[in-house]
Amino acid sequence: MDFAEIPKPKPAQMAVRPNLVGYERLRRSFQWEDLYKELDWLPGGSLNMAHECIDRHANGQRRDQAALLWEGRNGEQEQYTFDQLKEESNRFANVLKGLGIKKGDRVFLFLERIPELYIALFGVLKVGAIAGPLFSAFGPDPVRDRLNNSGTVLLVTSPDLRRRIAQVLPQTPALKHIIVVNKSGRDSQPLVGGDLSYEGLMRQASPQFEIERTTMYDYSVMHYTSGTTGAPKGAVHRHQAIVQQYATGKWVLDLHPTDLYWCTADPGWVTGTSYGMFAPWSNGVTQLIYEGGFSPSRWYELIQRYKVTVWYSAPTAIRMLMKAGKELPGRYDLSSLRHINSVGEPLNPEAVVWGMKVFKQAIHDNWWQTETGAILIANYPWMPVRPGSMGRPIPGIQAGILDDDYNELPPGKDGHLAIRPGWPSMFHAYWQAPERYNSRFLKGWYITGDRARVDADGYFWFVGRTDDVINTAGHLVGPFEVESALIEHPAVAEAGVIGIPDPIAMEVVKAFVALKDGYQPTEELRRDISRFVRQKLAAAVAPREIEFIATMPKTRSGKIMRRLLKARELGLPEGDTSTLEED
Ligand code: ATP
Ligand code: MG
Repeated sequence: MDFAEIPKPKPAQMAVRPNLVGYERLRRSFQWEDLYKELDWLPGGSLNMAHECIDRHANGQRRDQAALLWEGRNGEQEQYTFDQLKEESNRFANVLKGLGIKKGDRVFLFLERIPELYIALFGVLKVGAIAGPLFSAFGPDPVRDRLNNSGTVLLVTSPDLRRRIAQVLPQTPALKHIIVVNKSGRDSQPLVGGDLSYEGLMRQASPQFEIERTTMYDYSVMHYTSGTTGAPKGAVHRHQAIVQQYATGKWVLDLHPTDLYWCTADPGWVTGTSYGMFAPWSNGVTQLIYEGGFSPSRWYELIQRYKVTVWYSAPTAIRMLMKAGKELPGRYDLSSLRHINSVGEPLNPEAVVWGMKVFKQAIHDNWWQTETGAILIANYPWMPVRPGSMGRPIPGIQAGILDDDYNELPPGKDGHLAIRPGWPSMFHAYWQAPERYNSRFLKGWYITGDRARVDADGYFWFVGRTDDVINTAGHLVGPFEVESALIEHPAVAEAGVIGIPDPIAMEVVKAFVALKDGYQPTEELRRDISRFVRQKLAAAVAPREIEFIATMPKTRSGKIMRRLLKARELGLPEGDTSTLEED
């Protein structure tokens, strides 16, 4: 595609000197062990993420620095220093210990984005148990299924969420305790039956706690995947992941002690823990946590008021900001922003171009998965950005493009995106599914399930998920290319592209299109969009059919569910829809 490379910024244009400048040099010599000296560790060589993120700062110079600035959904504000987070998470660790929770137990958190979610999660890590955050918009069945699959013994939730799932709680035999957080006394009748009050337990708990001496290989967090391609899988991570979360916070997010960082992801998804807790706090950085949902004006206002400097968001949010128009951001002072990052889906080049206009800087795309635990491929502040590319592997990571026999392909060819196993934040299991886990490792590679290509300079370009790739007249077409061309049209807000069966071509490309505010789905517009993309794409790749839809089916983490577009188009069963976002 014909998007010009964005040159690397000049040193004078940068507010701070980037942490990673000599990429090539570092890549050549780097070993993960080199970073061990930058972590604090526990006596006897133990490693615990809670110590690296909270206690080491509370015990040192950052003791009274704000770790968390919270803005509630009703405009409430709270602030916690590293020292306060240490004491509060110690209290919660004592609560858990008092209830008999021990190393390896699964403790799940089903809460809104309130400070107590963060406190509880670090308390869980401090006792050496496994923390499992659940997205607060889940209905009863997805919660039950995850609690049962993981064998959760203790659930931390809030009164309204507990009421929502009340009907399925009798079907969770392993669950022994429910702790209910009644944030700011929001609920007048918070407790039911044998439930325990978070506030009551915390009042009685000591703020002193000796962190469990976990090893780097002990389990820390488990996350269910987004369910974009099928039923979600429970990926389990280890304390060792902090090595890479810390490193990527430094190299990719370019976190500096003076930053005010905002990650918009919910901790129900891996971005919300790896980059909404572990990366910023292991780097000792202050972060904003906003409980409310997406709203263009509110988001811009938060950036202005908190003077956010580093921002980590997702393509779906950026497309929604684009949809809200160019005038809106002009009403806010967004000049504090110095580095913007995106993950979760391919970032359409058009979004990068828009970012250059609105934020006067490139949005930096990066690639990773629940399974990888941390960023593996990224654009860095100190490197030219090629719009549409997800960038280059971080130091310590070897990525390859493989053919269908899992042999490496040369640059320029599409194939399976694969990673040489053994990076620190690599998942260690799919919970109770060892065969499924093993099936992801072939011929010495971890097979990501995505297709990509690499150019001669080592930049990786996403093609599509293996399941979503369309086979039309002998060409393999990635939906991303077609969707990106569609959203260059001024009327198109979002596009989802699938293959539908065809007797001659095997499959033909069909596009579903959601329009920007103010556009009507007319026949004339459809023809115009069709003409527009035909100029941009090869004939075989351009969509044969374009259908307007009001909203794109997406996962709750904001990913377009092409398998659902396809099932609906072909009248097939919809499969697992536990993570489908409902309006
Ligand atoms: P499931 O595995 O349950 O189908 P999922 O793969 O969407 O769900 P996640 O682990 O949350 O679950 O998402 C990781 C996937 O998101 C990647 O494998 C890739 O397909 C997509 N993705 C993430 N970042 C990018 C990116 N920068 N560019 C392109 N795709 C991305
Ligand atoms: Mg996946």
